[in-house]
Amino acid sequence: MKKIKILGAGLSGLAAAINLAKAGIEVEVYEKNSDCGMRFHGDMQGLENWSDKEDVLDSLQKMHIDVNFNCTPFRKIILSNCERDDKFSFDRPVFYLVERGNFEGSIDFGLKKQALDAGVKINFDQDIQENNVDIVATGPKFNHIPAAVKGIVFNTKSPNIAVGLVNEKAAYKGYAYLLIANSVACLCSCSALDKTETEKINENFELSKKHFCEKYNLTIKNEKEVGGVGYFSINNIYKKDKNIFVGEAAGIQDFLAGFGMRTAMISGYLAAKSIIENLDYEQLAEKKFGDYIKAGIVNRYIWEHTKIDNYLTVFDKLNEMLKGTSFLYSMYNFNLVQKIEYPIALQYIKKQYPEVL
Ligand SMILES: Cc1cc2nc3c(=O)[nH]c(=O)nc-3n(C[C@H](O)[C@H](O)[C@H](O)COP(=O)(O)OP(=O)(O)OC[C@H]3O[C@@H](n4cnc5c(N)ncnc54)[C@H](O)[C@@H]3O)c2cc1C
Repeated sequence: MKKIKILGAGLSGLAAAINLAKAGIEVEVYEKNSDCGMRFHGDMQGLENWSDKEDVLDSLQKMHIDVNFNCTPFRKIILSNCERDDKFSFDRPVFYLVERGNFEGSIDFGLKKQALDAGVKINFDQDIQENNVDIVATGPKFNHIPAAVKGIVFNTKSPNIAVGLVNEKAAYKGYAYLLIANSVACLCSCSALDKTETEKINENFELSKKHFCEKYNLTIKNEKEVGGVGYFSINNIYKKDKNIFVGEAAGIQDFLAGFGMRTAMISGYLAAKSIIENLDYEQLAEKKFGDYIKAGIVNRYIWEHTKIDNYLTVFDKLNEMLKGTSFLYSMYNFNLVQKIEYPIALQYIKKQYPEVL
């Protein structure tokens, strides 16, 4: 089989590269930065474990991806709206905490190593044209609705914890979070704001920090800034001309909260599978992500209508429903209620965010 060229050495591109190389296909990856993981700087991110009944680590193994990176399971989370803190426990890890960046122990470093070990050639500092490659894995597009994330990572003596904070002043239309695993912490505010709205972004972050510091009596050492921007889209392009699109470049991302690592790796795996087994990638991707994306649209629509009472209705509902991961599974798999609400939700999103189309 001919050599396969991939643009972008993020999680989606590397997942595709690893699978192609393991199937004996020559693979060359072109990455604009000087290393993998340069979009991040030690951020901690949750590898979600609710959108599928299979544990995400088992899914990775089936996708020929080893867990050769730091990965801490979380079975308990706290949700806060500044007024009230509710604790939730799950029957299995609700997510695994991983680190992002170009250092040993991060998921980016781990996947890079697996790709190189499988014989993939990665060309760093190279930004070539999309039409010269087979798979486009270049991450977010910049003409879609933005989400600004401002945060810090630091060392702390505080114990492991995962807290999500929903409050319009701490994270406009979004959420803030405090994640601590093995004495390393990440505290971020993620708002639906453009990166140029610096004053608002800073205010959101400072309020989140104040809340977390006071509430959890945090010790902060070796503070370092992290964060960046994410872009949301409902315009999924899996294939254009001879190019296959994977990960965020295909618009595959959770429209509610921005979880995109798991889907990035799955789409990379599916792209490789389509090439190896001569299958239609568009069909594979639509089957896997079609309902997931529609569910995300309804989730965002509902979310934007529940902020009115500082999310108290959501808290009450979650206390009733969130006994295990099955409610979250249903939320991400286009359940019957979502199917009914979808047409209205889609109209709302199109009107509210014309740029996501
Ligand atoms: C602050 C923040 C927090 C997040 N938290 C979470 C979380 O908790 N859980 C979760 O699941 N997801 C989270 N996400 C989303 C997640 O990080 C992404 O969805 C995921 O990394 C997408 O992978 P990807 O391969 O599609 O793109 P990327 O990881 O962005 O990789 C794209 C790669 O392509 C390279 N590239 C881009 N353009 C070119 C070009 N023209 N030529 C060559 N190379 C190019 C980039 O340098 C990059 O290495 C978060 C995102 C942000 C910004």
